[in-house]
Amino acid sequence: MSINILAIETSCDETSAAVVRDGRVVLSNIIFSQVKQHEVFGGVVPEIASRKHVEVVIPIIDLALSEAAPFLCGTTSNAAPTATVADSSATLAAQTATTTAHAMPPAPAASAASAAHAIPAALAAPAAYAVPAAPALYDSTELLRNARPCVPGGSSPQIALNSIDAVAVTYGPGLAGALLTGLAAAKGLAFSLGKPLIGVNHIEGHICAAYLEYPELAPPFTALVVSGGHSHIYYVPGYREYELMGRTRDDAAGEAFDKIARAGGLGYPGGPKLSRAAADGDPEAFSFPRVRFGSGSYDFSFSGPKTAALNQLNKLKNIYSDNIPGNIMASFFSSFQAAVVDILVENVTQAELTKNTGKIVVVGGVAANTLLREKLTQSGINNRISIFCPPPALCTDNAAMIGSAAYFKYSSRQLSSMELNAIPGASLDCSG
Ligand code: ADP
Ligand code: MG
Repeated sequence: MSINILAIETSCDETSAAVVRDGRVVLSNIIFSQVKQHEVFGGVVPEIASRKHVEVVIPIIDLALSEAAPFLCGTTSNAAPTATVADSSATLAAQTATTTAHAMPPAPAASAASAAHAIPAALAAPAAYAVPAAPALYDSTELLRNARPCVPGGSSPQIALNSIDAVAVTYGPGLAGALLTGLAAAKGLAFSLGKPLIGVNHIEGHICAAYLEYPELAPPFTALVVSGGHSHIYYVPGYREYELMGRTRDDAAGEAFDKIARAGGLGYPGGPKLSRAAADGDPEAFSFPRVRFGSGSYDFSFSGPKTAALNQLNKLKNIYSDNIPGNIMASFFSSFQAAVVDILVENVTQAELTKNTGKIVVVGGVAANTLLREKLTQSGINNRISIFCPPPALCTDNAAMIGSAAYFKYSSRQLSSMELNAIPGASLDCSG
């Protein structure tokens, strides 16, 4: 019998909900990115992230259920997609543009929140404390009204809910307020449906993204988790077994990319922008240190190359009076990217060679980096190691990966109680 899990991810600045079957098949995976809300500030503002999660989490869950409904209700005979991942604005625009059936009652015209979620006037933030206006990507009431019925006589989210076996949610690591939003939504749903609640460690979720893309992938393998907050190497001897082999001693790789991108005037989010800006540059134009900690250690340090790059940037600003030619900036970004990627590839390859599983899994937002993918592929060829790197949409934060991780907890009956709380600094070793 298939196990369908509704998963919710709100650990940072993506609000995402997904339905995943048997830990391997993505029936839906809706991701609402808050980039537009945060880029004006040059980074994620925790309070704004929490408020945005509160605003969109219910419509995003509705969308995930609606999209999964044809597969859950048996009205679609096609095989379920391995990944239905789309950028928020594109998917949401498409949804509102193409759907006309209204399953949900009309929401009040004046407010984006439905009556059930309306904030009492007395508690609403006074205008003086209002969050600076950010461009609205969509109107959440529209999403609710446009939910599609999959069979006559019922709305698809409601019918899909009946086929859900458990509700999963990220409990940490992440931003406390952001995590609490997802937890509240998941607990409410699990309680009202009488279904199990499963708390998932975000890092474990990243690793399990690989199970979604590669149905044949099974432990043992070596995993490199590289994102804005994490740079870890794990040996994964079995499902739900993680042995930490190395981690950053200072900045995470994504954090270093973000900082150098910001210093170089690229803005937020830095990683993808830096990668694009580096495209035509010379990766050997500038020499930045590749820090290793000697044999037996697979730890990283990115503060060395970051400081060297910042010093180099200041020199360039002095030389060119703050008007550095584009080709030199491209080479600067390219050289920094090469330094970070070299350290990641070298350490994970060496770690894998000691375990000799023949498999490296690479996940997390930085795994979307093209140079990292190319260099790992080459290292894999040289060392006879198979590289498993899910597509970028499954590497950055998404709920499908949480649904996959939850399945393996569900299978071993590792369920959570309603006491489940956010653990902002959770490590994978204490995920339970
Ligand atoms: P976290 O889980 O820590 O919130 P994500 O898994 O969402 O982070 O990954 C976001 C990080 O990935 C950011 O630091 C971002 O700059 C980085 N990133 C995303 N795409 C790329 C890319 N193409 N190249 C380098 N870094 C990237
Ligand atoms: Mg992440």
